[in-house]
Amino acid sequence: MSGVSSMISKHTATPSGDTPALSIVIPFYNEAGNVDALLERLTAQMALIGGSFEIVGVDDGSRDATLAALIAACERVPEMRIVKLSRNFGKEAAMLAGIQEARGDRILLMDADLQHPPETIPAMLEVADRGVDVVYGARSNGRNDGWLRNTLSRQFYRIFASTAEMKIPADAGDFRLFSRRAADALRSLPETNRFMKGLYSWIGFSQESVPYDVGVRSSGSSKWPILKLFSYAWDGIISFSALPLRIWSVIGTVIATGALIYAMWIVISTLAFGRDIPGYATLASAIFFLGGLQLLSIGVLGEYIARIFAETKQRPIYIIEDIFGGTDDDGAK
Ligand code: UDP
Ligand code: MG
Repeated sequence: MSGVSSMISKHTATPSGDTPALSIVIPFYNEAGNVDALLERLTAQMALIGGSFEIVGVDDGSRDATLAALIAACERVPEMRIVKLSRNFGKEAAMLAGIQEARGDRILLMDADLQHPPETIPAMLEVADRGVDVVYGARSNGRNDGWLRNTLSRQFYRIFASTAEMKIPADAGDFRLFSRRAADALRSLPETNRFMKGLYSWIGFSQESVPYDVGVRSSGSSKWPILKLFSYAWDGIISFSALPLRIWSVIGTVIATGALIYAMWIVISTLAFGRDIPGYATLASAIFFLGGLQLLSIGVLGEYIARIFAETKQRPIYIIEDIFGGTDDDGAK
């Protein structure tokens, strides 16, 4: 591909050429300080493992020197290609772009910040050799994210499992090794709103975990402030379950039944005891209560409609601005 002619690729065909045994897909967003250390450890590990491999680095619209560092690294690491997205599309989109570009028989996803140790790769490959389609890294040393985050994330997994009727392993992240067919399944899913943690489980296939120790972020900072995590969790639940919609039918039924019984009580008590109806307070609180509930339910409805809106636009999930590195003509720079 030449110049900045943007390739809008939602389902690009796998480029022809030799297929390496392993494609390593890494999203980079403002990770300039990590590029060299990561590649050094990764290539050292791959030299030990042997076998053909490629590294697909996705620059997710970084605003620091990440791209320059990656391009410089291409000189040293001939197995590396860089896919530069036209802006920051988010980690999920960046990973998809990498999977889409990967040619290998197996595809490994890992973070750029060295929290996913390359030294775990041999153990993952071993499990994959047994025919397991998805091998995911499971954090063996917990998350070290502090009490609040830990509790919230535990609650999220619980709620997700009960609403989506599908379990996602709590200790797993995006450190994963896919067989070609599992990766193809993953990239065939057309939705724009991609909650990867859910999609990993949704595709099925045999899945097994391999424990690893999460490293501390080696440089830079996490891009996940707690508010963003909330919206991520909400996204996950909404995109995998219609339960938040159905809940309102239940609440509506309960309230309507209660209101009916109350109305009957008023009629009976008025007839039997001839009482006045001092109803102002009841009326006011009922109106406010129901008004609030209705707004809430409309809000939930809106969340789903917003997602339908996003999906119907059928926009590509990411846009590639440029590709660097690689040995074939179209990618060479
Ligand atoms: N990342 C990305 N686009 C983004 C945010 C993050 O490609 O918009 C990449 C980031 O460069 C890193 C990985 O996703 O390689 C994980 O990000 P981070 O370390 O911030 O997440 P955490 O480890 O805190 O979950
Ligand atoms: Mg990280």
